[in-house]
Amino acid sequence: MEDPQFKIGMLFSTPEVFKAAVKQHAIKQQRPVKLVKNDKRRLRAKCMGVMGDNKHCPWEVSAAKVMAESTYQVRTYKSKHKCGSRMKHDQCEGESNDNCRGPLESHLIL
Ligand SMILES: [Zn+2]
Repeated sequence: MEDPQFKIGMLFSTPEVFKAAVKQHAIKQQRPVKLVKNDKRRLRAKCMGVMGDNKHCPWEVSAAKVMAESTYQVRTYKSKHKCGSRMKHDQCEGESNDNCRGPLESHLIL
């Protein structure tokens, strides 16, 4: 499956489609992304990963319901993960070192 790309203004036909895309991103990027808001009007997912000094990763995507439609539109998107690996090795600053990634299951917390 593809790694979904979010964009501001992007439309999702139902909350389920949004959540599926977020989940797919979490799997593909192996990041601990969690749905933090999920009500009738807004959806928001954040990365629960931490950066070097225990600061939270800024990755976040939120969507709001478009009036009179069942569609949700992406309103904010902070696309850069700054969370390091759970192992906290210096060489794990980069995004693509496979050795720095934890087991897949631990990231599926949606
Ligand atoms: Zn992150």
